[in-house]
Amino acid sequence: MNTMLRGPALIDDVVLPDVLVRIDGERIAAVTAITGGTEPPPGADGAERVSGTMLPAYVDMHCHGGGGTAFTDLDDAAAARAAEHQHARGTTSLLASLVTMSPRDLERGVAILAELADDGLVDGIHLEGPWLAEARCGAHDPTLLRDPTLAEVERLLAVGRGHIRQVTLAPERDHGMDLVRWLTAAGVHAAVGHTAASFVQVEQALAAGADVATHLFNGMDPWHHRVSSAVPALLRGAARGAAVLEIIADGAHVADETVRTVVDLVGADSVAFVSDAMAAAGAGDGAYVLGGLDVVVHHGVARLTHAPDGTSPGSLAGGTSHVADIVSRQVGHGLPLAYAVRAGARTPARLLGLGDRGAIDLGARADLVVVDESVRPTRVMRRGRWLEG
Ligand SMILES: [Zn+2]
Repeated sequence: MNTMLRGPALIDDVVLPDVLVRIDGERIAAVTAITGGTEPPPGADGAERVSGTMLPAYVDMHCHGGGGTAFTDLDDAAAARAAEHQHARGTTSLLASLVTMSPRDLERGVAILAELADDGLVDGIHLEGPWLAEARCGAHDPTLLRDPTLAEVERLLAVGRGHIRQVTLAPERDHGMDLVRWLTAAGVHAAVGHTAASFVQVEQALAAGADVATHLFNGMDPWHHRVSSAVPALLRGAARGAAVLEIIADGAHVADETVRTVVDLVGADSVAFVSDAMAAAGAGDGAYVLGGLDVVVHHGVARLTHAPDGTSPGSLAGGTSHVADIVSRQVGHGLPLAYAVRAGARTPARLLGLGDRGAIDLGARADLVVVDESVRPTRVMRRGRWLEG
């Protein structure tokens, strides 16, 4: 099937006012900028005019669900619905993230999500835990945190059949540095997060192959200038191109000024906007369950109903935004559109080896969002087909 779209589009970091995008099947077959002085190419008059600006669709490397269901529900139909919800909101590529679970549940979750990846609904699996630090466990069940063993890692990688692409871990745990090496040797991104690691421990993890920071600032010690901590080591790693920093730039997890500072310091090619979305994304306030723990969502902010010590409310428990909301928010706060789209699409696509995503380019997969003046998606195309909102 052939489709011709015509309208403003972000091409090579610039919004061009009149672009013709020819789509052949699932791929972009031609991108032509039309200027006043040039003859429009054949077919330009019959092209479908888009009302808004075409951007590459978003890529979310840290996402637990959305639309009322989650990948952590351990149910294949629920997981498929969560993926389709994300697609319809503009995130047409994503890693499905699990949380800390018992060995048996984790294996089940990985098996379910590997099938989802076989079906092309997600682009891989992210294990967030169970090898995390008790002191920075956030919304992970602290009773299920454990030290990594080669046997458990090998079993999970086997069940994942190549679909496990990223693992969030605390390198300071016993065998934490071994875990970084095992994963790196297997071609899996080792991501430093939910950690109480010192500066030196993070530098060692980066030297051993870790190349991602899981939601920078959240799930790690705050950056105090007199204390050795993970944040400056991760920033330094990103500044020399050795790490991509996930940021949940939704206004609740990290201050917008902090987001802007990080993007200015390390560049949008080293920042990935992630949603960390749980089931409540796009589904409203209320009571939810995340990895067996009760969560309450109030005014769009998800928190554990009770902290492990019984006090309430507990820690932040994932996000309720979509990457599209985050891009819109950050552009609204002054981040140039091209940088926001790099962080929301191109940088995570590159990290994950999805070379045909993250840009409106010849040969790329035809995954587009059409956005209004507030950079809110009005239409989404995935694999050359418009999705229903
Ligand atoms: Zn998460």
